Amino acid sequence: MVDARALESLLAFWIDAGVDAALRDDREARVVAPEPARLVPAPPAPTPAPAVSPRPARLAAPVAPADATLIDTAVATAARAAAAAGDLTSLAAAIAAFDGCPLKAGARQAVVSRGRPDAPVMAIGEAPGADEDAQGAPFVGRAGQLLDRMLAAAGLTDRVFITNTVFWRPPGNRTPTAEEQAVCAPFLHRAIVLAKPKVLLLLGGASAKSVLRRGEGILQLRGRWFEWRSADGALEIPALPTLHPAFLLRQPLAKKKAWEDLLRLTERLDRPPRPA
Ligand code: URA
Repeated sequence: MVDARALESLLAFWIDAGVDAALRDDREARVVAPEPARLVPAPPAPTPAPAVSPRPARLAAPVAPADATLIDTAVATAARAAAAAGDLTSLAAAIAAFDGCPLKAGARQAVVSRGRPDAPVMAIGEAPGADEDAQGAPFVGRAGQLLDRMLAAAGLTDRVFITNTVFWRPPGNRTPTAEEQAVCAPFLHRAIVLAKPKVLLLLGGASAKSVLRRGEGILQLRGRWFEWRSADGALEIPALPTLHPAFLLRQPLAKKKAWEDLLRLTERLDRPPRPA
């Protein structure tokens, strides 16, 4: 039987994605008429639109260069605090108590996670924004609402634990720097090890680059499976980068690609294990 709520949420997602017509799959053969000969010179070709970049330039204040020694010390302190946390609740407390991330000074509170800690999917975003900073939970603003609708349409509600590469809001919602992500990484890695999700869903370029340590942009990385490995090599988890929901709000036509990525993820998640 069709689940009416699942159907409703899938329809909502399609409407969001700009789907406004249902097309049949069988195609008619069409003959394309040749262009008539021009009797007047063709008008000059329009100048091509500039390529769409995944994130528009932001007018946030420039970031002061970080002191490498301070960063190394902060990473080491974070690594010790993270290793001492035996479960996700104590890890969240350790993050809130940590003073080594420069972002903390400008934020109202630490934003750590939401969702079920035993969920098979861990979604990792970039950084908390203004709504997250105010409410203390990741992805609760407009981008989060879209993310929730996408997850619901893919049947993933209640199957996702959501967190970010950094736990404090960067000023002006700028992208976190590599140093800020490096300082928070021991906590993120410990969260992955403690939660042991079956798959990681990396939301946007800043997340994918930082978690996978890759240099390519998100348009190259999305939709491809990578392997995340814990520092001791004991844990390997498949990771799928996809487009960030905030990008999808600006570029609704890209939702089709994000939807394909989510289907790829659910297909892998629900694939029966190979017989031994
Ligand atoms: N964007 C993110 O990357 N994370 C959030 O928590 C909210 C918006």
